[in-house]
Amino acid sequence: MKVGVVGTGMVGSTAAYAIAASGVVSSLVLIDHDSELARAQAADIADAVPFIGAVSVQDGDYADLNGAAIVVVAAGVAQRPGESRLELLGRNAGIFADVIAEVLAFAPDAILLVATNPVDIMTAVSTKLSGIDPARVIGTGTILDTARFRKNLGRHLGVSPQSVHAHVLGEHGDSEVLVWSSAECGAMPLDSFARQRGCPLTDTLRSEVDENVRQAAQRIIAGKGATWFGVAAGLARIVRVIALDQHEVLTVSCMTTEVAGVRNVCLSLPRIIGAGGVEDTLMPGMTRAELEALSASAQLIKQTTDALGETYST
Ligand code: ADP
Repeated sequence: MKVGVVGTGMVGSTAAYAIAASGVVSSLVLIDHDSELARAQAADIADAVPFIGAVSVQDGDYADLNGAAIVVVAAGVAQRPGESRLELLGRNAGIFADVIAEVLAFAPDAILLVATNPVDIMTAVSTKLSGIDPARVIGTGTILDTARFRKNLGRHLGVSPQSVHAHVLGEHGDSEVLVWSSAECGAMPLDSFARQRGCPLTDTLRSEVDENVRQAAQRIIAGKGATWFGVAAGLARIVRVIALDQHEVLTVSCMTTEVAGVRNVCLSLPRIIGAGGVEDTLMPGMTRAELEALSASAQLIKQTTDALGETYST
């Protein structure tokens, strides 16, 4: 399987490395409008290949995406001093207009994996620009927030995060919703599991976990300016699940016809991911408060997407 990565900055290059290390793809093509950067990143990752597997890693141009099954889009620019969030979004939407057209010209059947933030908005932009089946346009969404939620709960309960089933839904951002009510561990409701383990889920613990999950990115940014390893590992996981048609349930962003009263919005819900992209979307049981929070999150994304829609054209 051939996979393309457009935008080989920190997120794109780390994702390329993680995808190369996963051993499920045969060819990786790295593209950046800074072609020297793409060349250097490809050469650096190619140097790791003898230690980690057998995958061809090359820089290229869009024509080299011919036959790619998946294209990761991690291209983008940073905020200029004095620039509003919406202006920045407009510039990134402009970049996506070029990138998506070029990608689809050479890889019309590819699944698009969007990583650029704010990822829900950029997933909506990509869906609109591409005009392809929305099931083939997937944003990383809350895949990492969900992993952080499980990690925190696993640590509290003294079990592997893999034994914890709990989701963060909605926006990848401040309005995201930690769904406590349907969380489980070892096929038991989280509360019962925690009581049996002698570490009940007190209000203090819940707010600590909530804070840890929401503030995780900011804490990393305070120390190193940006985050890339977590989301790159999430991207590699999505690529693996598609490549192996694993039908795994992941919280990723995708255009959703209706959620909690909001129509046509990109946000994260539990989705079954396989070779075709998003194969189904599930709506977990939630308390009224959780559902209201999800609705508010969806409305927020929708408002920004609509406001942005007036600042760029397809
Ligand atoms: P992040 O931390 O999100 O990876 P970076 O700034 O490190 O952010 O990476 C973004 C990358 O996107 C940069 O390497 C930049 O050159 C690239 N990029 C910006 N605009 C385009 C474009 N139009 N086409 C391809 N790549 C682009």
